[in-house]
Amino acid sequence: MNKNNETIVAISTGSSSGAISIVRMSGEMSTIIADKIFKAYSGQTPSEFEPRYLNLGNITTENFSEQAMCVVFKAPKSYTGENLVEFQCHGGTQIANGIMKECIKHGARIATNGEFTKRAFLNGKMSLSSAEGMMDMINAESDAEIRAGYELLTGNLSKLAYSSQKELTDILSEIEVSFDYPEEIIEYITKAKVKERLENLSKQMEETIETSETGKMIKSGINVLIVGRPNVGKSSLLNNLLQKEKAIVTDIAGTTRDTVEGTFLLDDIKINLIDTAGIHETQDTVEKIGVDKAKNLISQADIVLFLVDSNREYSADDEEIYNSIKNTKYIILRTKSDLAENNQKHFEDEIEISIKNNQGIDKLKEKILKLTKISNLSSGSVIITNERHKNALIRSNEAIKRAIENIELDSLDLIAIDIKQAYIDIGEITGNTTSEEIIDSIFSKFCLGK
Ligand code: GDP
Repeated sequence: MNKNNETIVAISTGSSSGAISIVRMSGEMSTIIADKIFKAYSGQTPSEFEPRYLNLGNITTENFSEQAMCVVFKAPKSYTGENLVEFQCHGGTQIANGIMKECIKHGARIATNGEFTKRAFLNGKMSLSSAEGMMDMINAESDAEIRAGYELLTGNLSKLAYSSQKELTDILSEIEVSFDYPEEIIEYITKAKVKERLENLSKQMEETIETSETGKMIKSGINVLIVGRPNVGKSSLLNNLLQKEKAIVTDIAGTTRDTVEGTFLLDDIKINLIDTAGIHETQDTVEKIGVDKAKNLISQADIVLFLVDSNREYSADDEEIYNSIKNTKYIILRTKSDLAENNQKHFEDEIEISIKNNQGIDKLKEKILKLTKISNLSSGSVIITNERHKNALIRSNEAIKRAIENIELDSLDLIAIDIKQAYIDIGEITGNTTSEEIIDSIFSKFCLGK
């Protein structure tokens, strides 16, 4: 039997005990297997159930009986597009395991990771990018990630990919038609029209690719690096923002010799905060490694918080740090404002903060959000949060650009080769041109029972 025709079973709820567990079975035999183990109190067996209605009854396994609910979905109107049965049992892991084993005894096999969703994809129930969006929602650590996953799941990116493919096939048919009329004037007109349509498509793709910067921030969080001389209050700020004592705070310079990291949510957005070793001239070998690491991290940060002490003179070390961050997105913070005697600003746009009095922190948070621009996202927008989608768009756009570049010189049948390539590349987003190996590798990263 083909692997995809077998009936599969898995526990779809989490692996710890709770109020309810769901055991899910999909495949042609699922209702027949269910008939052998479940009997509704109405006297009906699962094969006789009205689809999509819950039925209370009894499950009998080799070692125990259980009172449970059963619902049947008939192909093709189910999540997988196949006959699908779900048992809602009491939430003990032993109970769910026993039911699953009973299904296996009667002919089902245990599902591999993501196999239910893979079947949904193979049966045309959802595109590959929608399946990925759903997985993003399950793994989300912030509301912004849930929203981005939802947009992907509900198909805005798929729609864009399908409409691009449609446009590319329309352009190809225009080229085909022109082959029937070999006059030079027809070729000239066709080339002009094709070029314009390709340029519009390329522009749309470029705009979508640009959203990946925001997408990366949503998915992986925003990397905010804290830099400054020793003792300016970096660890105190980190602890304040994380609301826990993550870094050691002392008035001994050089206490933080390596980076200390933590994550917190700011208006639904994940902020990865990194506290660095105080940057200054030092002969201490261990401290020096920390200082070099801090300098390297500056180039990878999305935002740098540069801390200057209100209570000390602006020094050569401060100036050196400023020079290494001035080409990044940065925020200057004048720390320990509670101790400042004369509040002279060194930088025009600096924010005064006092961890001791909890002042200036809200202003800092506002500024971080302003620099990320993520809060401006509206629903229905396409944001690229997945490297695979971004690469597919880039490759497709490159093929389109090759066609545009060569259109004056090359014959239309040569241009058609690049257009066909663009079609294949963009199809990888929805999965209609994706190889089986890649599809397998994507679904293998899904969780069991999904
Ligand atoms: P780091 O070396 O830059 O990480 O600095 P720390 O966070 O370890 O702070 C150095 C010293 O400054 C500690 O004694 C802190 O208690 C103190 N400190 C930090 N922030 C403030 C503040 O806002 N006001 C006052 N008065 N002291 C602070």
